[in-house]
Amino acid sequence: MNVTRFAPSPTGRLHLGHAFSAALGRSRGDNFRLRIEDLDQGRSRPEFVEGIFEDLRWLGIEWDEPVLVQSQRTAIYEEALEALRDRGLVYACFCTRADIAQSLTAPHGDAATSYPGTCRPLPDDPERRATTPHCWRLDSAKALEIAGLPSWTEADGSRFGASASQIGDAILARKDAPSSYHLSCVIDDAASGVTTVVRGADLRPSTPIQRVLQELLGMPEPTYLHHRLVTHEDGRRLAKRDLAPTLAAMRAAGVDGRELADVLTKGQLPLGFAFSEA
Ligand code: GLU
Repeated sequence: MNVTRFAPSPTGRLHLGHAFSAALGRSRGDNFRLRIEDLDQGRSRPEFVEGIFEDLRWLGIEWDEPVLVQSQRTAIYEEALEALRDRGLVYACFCTRADIAQSLTAPHGDAATSYPGTCRPLPDDPERRATTPHCWRLDSAKALEIAGLPSWTEADGSRFGASASQIGDAILARKDAPSSYHLSCVIDDAASGVTTVVRGADLRPSTPIQRVLQELLGMPEPTYLHHRLVTHEDGRRLAKRDLAPTLAAMRAAGVDGRELADVLTKGQLPLGFAFSEA
């Protein structure tokens, strides 16, 4: 049985790219899961969670099991982090870096791989930890010794591999949140028995570190379907701040959601939009 999932962050209204991802995930899954990635409490909003349900209902896309809500699962993430800590695979990092904020909901970019390792050699200092804000980072060199270099298979059968330089000391728990995107994503995919991770090609750079975490935590290896991204016809990305291609705006304009989902499932797009590789 193929288990797929759709895992939006409720930080804005869903747009056409999300609808494509959800339609593809639904069509590929005998069992299709919905997960709300709301760990970033600063940016997540209840009305956007409602918007996700509303938009999926409009598209006629149904999910099979109770919705998994990450903010309700923090104890599970903490336990996994502790297990990694007991094995000496993570260290506390006290650096104040504005881009740390990216690690939670914006897995794009190279903030994780560019961390210079300042706090890695520090001995554990519980007193400092008790008084100073800190995040937890993966000691990637140690992790790779155990896990080996990561590789994965895409749904079309192609194999991908990553080099050590693509695996940085990623943040596994943020200063202000008990987990990070990478850690909670692999824990939840495994907990839901996800066999195919369907998501946009912009998230492919997250896959090496997530494969490492799966190896460290003894989780099964899913197949990945990193799909093309939906852009405006002229190649501009769909941004959450763009109002035009939100599903809410399409619905208001009288578009039939079920027909739209059918079109997307066939790999086609409405006029005015195009696919790009990343
Ligand atoms: N929550 C992420 C996003 O909305 C997706 C994570 C994933 O599919 O792995 O970009």
